[in-house]
Amino acid sequence: MSEAAARPSNFIRQIIDKDLADGKHTSVHTRFPPEPNGYLHIGHAKSICLNFGIAQDYQGQCNLRFDDTNPEKEDLEYVESIKQDVSWLGFEWAGDIHYSSDNFDKLYEYAVELINKGLAYVEELSPEQIREYRGTLTAPGKHSPYRDRPIEENLELFEKMRQGEFAEGTVCLRAKIDMSSSFMVLRDPVLYRVRFASHHQTGDKWCIYPMYDFTHCISDALEGITHSICTLEFQDNRRLYDWVLENITVDCVPHQYEFSRLNLEYTVMSKRKLNQLVTEKLVDGWDDPRMPTISGLRRRGFTPGSIREFCQRIGVTKQDNLIEFGSLESCIRDDLNENAPRAMAVLDPVKVVIENYDADQVETLVLQNHPNKPEMGTREVPFTREVWIEREDFREEANKKYKRLVLGKEVRLRGSYVIKAERIEKDAEGNITTIYCTYDNETLGQNPTDGRKVKGVIHWVSASHGVPAEVRLYDRLFNVPNPGAANNFAETINADSLIVKRGFVEPSLTSAEAEFGYQFERLGYFCADNKDSSPEALVFNRTVGLRDTWAKIEAK
Ligand code: ATP
Ligand code: MG
Repeated sequence: MSEAAARPSNFIRQIIDKDLADGKHTSVHTRFPPEPNGYLHIGHAKSICLNFGIAQDYQGQCNLRFDDTNPEKEDLEYVESIKQDVSWLGFEWAGDIHYSSDNFDKLYEYAVELINKGLAYVEELSPEQIREYRGTLTAPGKHSPYRDRPIEENLELFEKMRQGEFAEGTVCLRAKIDMSSSFMVLRDPVLYRVRFASHHQTGDKWCIYPMYDFTHCISDALEGITHSICTLEFQDNRRLYDWVLENITVDCVPHQYEFSRLNLEYTVMSKRKLNQLVTEKLVDGWDDPRMPTISGLRRRGFTPGSIREFCQRIGVTKQDNLIEFGSLESCIRDDLNENAPRAMAVLDPVKVVIENYDADQVETLVLQNHPNKPEMGTREVPFTREVWIEREDFREEANKKYKRLVLGKEVRLRGSYVIKAERIEKDAEGNITTIYCTYDNETLGQNPTDGRKVKGVIHWVSASHGVPAEVRLYDRLFNVPNPGAANNFAETINADSLIVKRGFVEPSLTSAEAEFGYQFERLGYFCADNKDSSPEALVFNRTVGLRDTWAKIEAK
């Protein structure tokens, strides 16, 4: 990847540089540890670019590890989508995929080790009582009556938990640390709980499942991770991470480092909330083009490079942040402005009839695919007597600022001739149905020979050769910059976030590949929908407009 060349520094890379210089590590091994309980979103992309990007730049390795300790919420569909999204972003995980559940046997043994050391006990208080006994930030917790059970009894009860002899919620295994610690996570955290749930990897082998804090650090150690990078909300958990690794027998002792999560304006990033949008059918699935998911952005027309570029531009710090949606959009706009071939489409068509053009004639015009890149080649566009133009590109009367078609005046059809509007026809409601024009047959590829100036250029599609297409225009999914802060975030959904147009596109677009970006002249960047479009029924998504119209709206 070219952007890797401009190795961006950040505080985590500085730590790694130092660890390598000091000889603390000779190579770097990171991991990306998603829980397979939803699709990945743009926030995950930040973590992916950080972890895989470090591995790439330091010639190290990055594991993909499914952090799968909550069988009830997890699903193979999510496992598959996550693999696909990581690959699509352009990253390769080291060796086989890892699952925390690969280590369930070892985790059990480590729990037994803690029990044997007098550092874990089987709790019989109810979940409510455990909460009550835990205390608060200002008041210390108190000891459970089961805290000082003999080791033998703990071993026996833990084994019985594993055998399925206790109902869910009646027992759990807790670490014996410090009930008055100022870090709540150290007040005898739960290590194992009973769940009679089938697991997508281990089936019905287990009815006890380890908790995240116990599992994560041990998985890191077993995989030989050197730098375990996560988001700031796990800062306090680092105490428990270190405690577990100090008290069990492992060779490798990884360290955890935290950075701030990405928050993006006008969207939500929590998988729970995204899941709610999907299950309540407020969007068309996890890959709805308005979703901040990787698969949604992909379907919308974002390229992997534009998302990597975004992650590079936002950087990695410990500061809380709320990034403008426009900065994500400018990354894809910059990419497509360079790389998208141009094409013509009319989204709100009104018919133009060129009366002095032969009804049987079809002229094949050859148009450049990119104004500044001749290497991108040309394409053929048929020109005929009847063409579609945008309704808003015609006015019966207008002042000089309006550089489009006006009754009695001239305009150029992009890549074609100069036409003049002679008269119009309207329906009973007064809507214009047809604009009758004449053309100047000496203006193909040149200015009028008599020196007349024609300033405006509008786009068009042949009415007889154009192809009907559904075009989906997207806007922000939410009406407020921070929907996650609303009482009911679903109520802040923007009702106009999807507008469907039925228009016409030039014939070359029938072979448009899904997800491949085009600039529709004067309209924005578009790609064929990867689910709903087919050559027989074209569907295009607008990825982004040509300019940041939102910056203007917000400035007002
Ligand atoms: P969510 O809160 O959206 O459900 P999560 O943190 O529970 O996300 P995981 O699947 O556990 O999701 O996340 C995998 C990795 O991605 C973690 O290391 C996590 O810190 C990181 N990550 C998740 N959300 C963000 C974000 N918004 N910005 C940066 N990194 C993130
Ligand atoms: Mg999580």
